Amino acid sequence: MTRPLPRAGKKPPQKYSIFSLARQAMQGHQGWQAAWRSPEPQPEYDVIIVGGGGHGLATAYYLAKETNVGRIAVLEKGWLAGGNTARNTTIIRSNYLCDESARLYGHAHDLWEGLSQDLNYNVMFSPRGVIMLSHNVHDQQVAARHYHALNLNGIDSTLLSAEEVKEKVPLINIHGRYPVLGGLYQARAGNARHDAVAWGYARAADQMGVDIIENCPVEDFVIENGVVKGVQTPKGVIRAGKVGVVAAGHSSVLAEMAGFRMPLESVPLQAFVSEPIKPCFDTVVMSNSVHIYMSQSDKGELVIGAGSDNYVSYTQRGSFDLFDHAVQPLLELYPFVARLRMLRQWAGIVDVTRDRSPIITKTPIENLFFNCGWGTGGFKATPGSGHVFAHSIAKGEMHDIAAPFGMDRFSTGALIDEAAAAAVMH
Ligand SMILES: Cc1cc2nc3c(=O)[nH]c(=O)nc-3n(C[C@H](O)[C@H](O)[C@H](O)COP(=O)(O)OP(=O)(O)OC[C@H]3O[C@@H](n4cnc5c(N)ncnc54)[C@H](O)[C@@H]3O)c2cc1C
Repeated sequence: MTRPLPRAGKKPPQKYSIFSLARQAMQGHQGWQAAWRSPEPQPEYDVIIVGGGGHGLATAYYLAKETNVGRIAVLEKGWLAGGNTARNTTIIRSNYLCDESARLYGHAHDLWEGLSQDLNYNVMFSPRGVIMLSHNVHDQQVAARHYHALNLNGIDSTLLSAEEVKEKVPLINIHGRYPVLGGLYQARAGNARHDAVAWGYARAADQMGVDIIENCPVEDFVIENGVVKGVQTPKGVIRAGKVGVVAAGHSSVLAEMAGFRMPLESVPLQAFVSEPIKPCFDTVVMSNSVHIYMSQSDKGELVIGAGSDNYVSYTQRGSFDLFDHAVQPLLELYPFVARLRMLRQWAGIVDVTRDRSPIITKTPIENLFFNCGWGTGGFKATPGSGHVFAHSIAKGEMHDIAAPFGMDRFSTGALIDEAAAAAVMH
């Protein structure tokens, strides 16, 4: 299948550079192209990706860039990255416990490091280091176990003493009600700008001919003799050779449309940000035991994450008691925060599996693939997830790195238990 020429009949795509910025500045910034087109759907595609979050857009990008799949569309029910991609706290790390996870998150981490150059879009990847605090002997033992497992898998990791934590994070209170005994540190970890990740993938995919169709919810699947043949949308039936679903919190809803169950629970996960202040917090600090984590955005806001609510919901609004539960340890660990006003609070619907690992899988329906279950921690995996999913869809066989994450593990028992590494209370 030959790929349609990018933007056929139109100007070639603009490259972002210091020179194009200067040229546009001279022309009053009137000549920038739209970052991606808004096409009407074609009657048929080779592959349709359902869900225009980071993972779906990354999948479309790698399909277009690295495989010989020709006609590709991304169908998004709302606007690009309106789901968890733009609701998350942007922490990127690869210090997971199990060998399978080390390969998956490690692959993603490697791709993050060259992503801005690859996409010609600054995703503001900032490897500022992530510390996961230990508050008691049990935490220290878990940290030591992770440290050894990570070293065996070649993932960078250092054990810090309490004093070393204090040196890296001068504003932390290590002697309070939640004493800090040490930390597990990953220097290569950090964060990135979430919107930019989605926009960068969207722009690059669009330039390679991918049709990105917003405001186009998939309402049903067209299935003939156990094989997926397309999707039903308000814009009509769109036929497809293969369909990849990357719908995060709504994955089980889509699975139900296709006639099977996904082993997922969808729960709200919330976060909040302070008013912007001068740079004072240049490391990401997470505390699994007290369910709080914090970093400072480039705008100066303190970005604070909490645990997930303990009930199934699609409200995209967290409960107040969870917020209250998060603020108490926050003020114990970082007393200076008491003097700040909070600007915003929000939640996203995260799709959680029992073993806290994602599901990247074939399904009982032929040519229908699902990539979901990333729960509270999928942003960090965006490039790796998209990459292995794209290759799995193109080949019709799961990529080596993705293979252990099939949905059959919940019946075979080959679970990949990452509850301790998830760093968020579930
Ligand atoms: C508050 C919060 C903090 C988080 N913090 C972190 C963090 O620090 N680090 C980390 O790694 N991860 C974090 N996460 C998790 C992370 O955000 C997600 O795992 C990740 O963004 C999932 O990406 P996605 O592209 O799969 O999902 P989404 O961005 O949610 O994309 C799925 C898309 O599918 C669309 N969709 C759904 N149903 C349909 C349909 N029927 N038809 C068409 N489209 C449909 C949705 O509109 C949505 O845009 C956090 C999540 C939340 C909520």
